[in-house]
Amino acid sequence: MNLKELYQEIILEHGKNPNNFGKTVNYNKDAQGNNPLCGDNVHIFLKLNDQRKVEDISFEGSGCAISMASASIMTDLIKGKSDNEAKEIIEDFLGMIKENPDLKTNLLKDDEKTKLMCLSGVKQFPMRVKCATLSWHTLVSAMENDGKEVSTES
Ligand code: ZN
Repeated sequence: MNLKELYQEIILEHGKNPNNFGKTVNYNKDAQGNNPLCGDNVHIFLKLNDQRKVEDISFEGSGCAISMASASIMTDLIKGKSDNEAKEIIEDFLGMIKENPDLKTNLLKDDEKTKLMCLSGVKQFPMRVKCATLSWHTLVSAMENDGKEVSTES
């Protein structure tokens, strides 16, 4: 199995059986996002505690395998991080998806970075980049902008 096949396998698996799917109990931040060009919808829920740490995070929604896999992997990696750490990871991921060849952050282990790199295959397809980044922009909105709805087309 080459790297590309491995990446596709991981995406399909997360897309079919996403982690952290459902509504976080006692969430205190949330936001919805949609990508009308593909028909992807996500709703991110998180519980930020008094120490500004993401105690729990989950999502609901529907869409293509890339959008669901991205939300699944993102929620896995953000759980347990502080809000500043989460921001660093978000910035790093968005930078990688747009232009950077690699992830730079020290906050993720190598196997966690590999999961995110699975999504790097979308780089040359601008439409797919929107699928991969939707949940990440929605997370930013949930944490910062009081849950303003996110659209990839506005
Ligand atoms: Zn999509």
